[in-house]
Amino acid sequence: MNNKEMFFSYSTYLKNKYGKPAFRVSVDGGFSCPNRNNDGSGGCTYCDELGSLAVYHRGQEASIAHSLPENLYHPSPFSGRGFSMAARKERIARQIDEGMEFLKRRYGAVYFLLYFQAFTGTFAPVKQLRELYDFALSRASFKELIVSTRPDCVSPAVADLLLSYRKPDLDVWVELGLQSSHNSTLSRINRGHSKEDFEKAFMLLRDRGLKITVHLIFGLPGEGRKEIMETVRYIALLKPEGVKIHNLHIPVGTALFTEYSMGELTVPSGYRHLSYVCEALKMLPPEVIIHRLTCDTPPHRLGAPRTFFKKGTFLALVKDRMHYSH
Ligand code: SF4
Repeated sequence: MNNKEMFFSYSTYLKNKYGKPAFRVSVDGGFSCPNRNNDGSGGCTYCDELGSLAVYHRGQEASIAHSLPENLYHPSPFSGRGFSMAARKERIARQIDEGMEFLKRRYGAVYFLLYFQAFTGTFAPVKQLRELYDFALSRASFKELIVSTRPDCVSPAVADLLLSYRKPDLDVWVELGLQSSHNSTLSRINRGHSKEDFEKAFMLLRDRGLKITVHLIFGLPGEGRKEIMETVRYIALLKPEGVKIHNLHIPVGTALFTEYSMGELTVPSGYRHLSYVCEALKMLPPEVIIHRLTCDTPPHRLGAPRTFFKKGTFLALVKDRMHYSH
């Protein structure tokens, strides 16, 4: 953290560690999700499938138009992900090449971090995971391997495999979804795992010294300030290396959107989220890297909230508010 910052941001972490522009190359490895049925139905009530893809891999998302009611109940073209290994490798190679090209051109990227972002990046037999990770890592000189997953997809064998990639010049991070530490909320949003499952996965990774970023959502159904801060307090005690905070956003076509449309829940406004975030940042240990503070669902897919701060504005407000409350 530099002393002008009120919290340890991910951009500062990257700057401190690499000194030159370092960027994530997001890869969809063709994984599915154990929380979804084969036809793509089910899953977390806020998940519209496309949400876990990087922006530049969402080529088909125009088909999920805001104005097409029939799409509310039909799985997207990403369902039933039965790709062969050859097809998965071909896709991975293309995404890495195109992603790196884009990041070099747009941001002058010098260093690259390989990020298995889409769906559940450890949802496959270990042998298959090794083949996919090995292949992806062989495509370029990456500084980090980052895998996004769910607590119920972290076994000792998976954790050992991830650890096997850690080298002096290759760090390994796992992004682990918790969202809320309240089992009643996890059940209400159909997360398909408990707080205890999360803790077990967290400890498996922690025991091996792997770096962990925990995902949280502020404003889930049935949760207010008290419940959110209980989750933050719980995470503060675990001291993960990183935290990603999301404001509750409801994509069109999700089960949560149906609840919202029926008037069964409300969504925190930008200012409400701002107050949650500022309180949370004060509770988290200062060495925890804050990867994000809001969601960035594209407006044409977003059911609610329809008005929210832009990312930069929100960040400025956070800094401002924290500065004056010190
Ligand atoms: S675990 Fe992730 S990909 Fe699976 S349903 Fe939930 S949000 Fe969607």
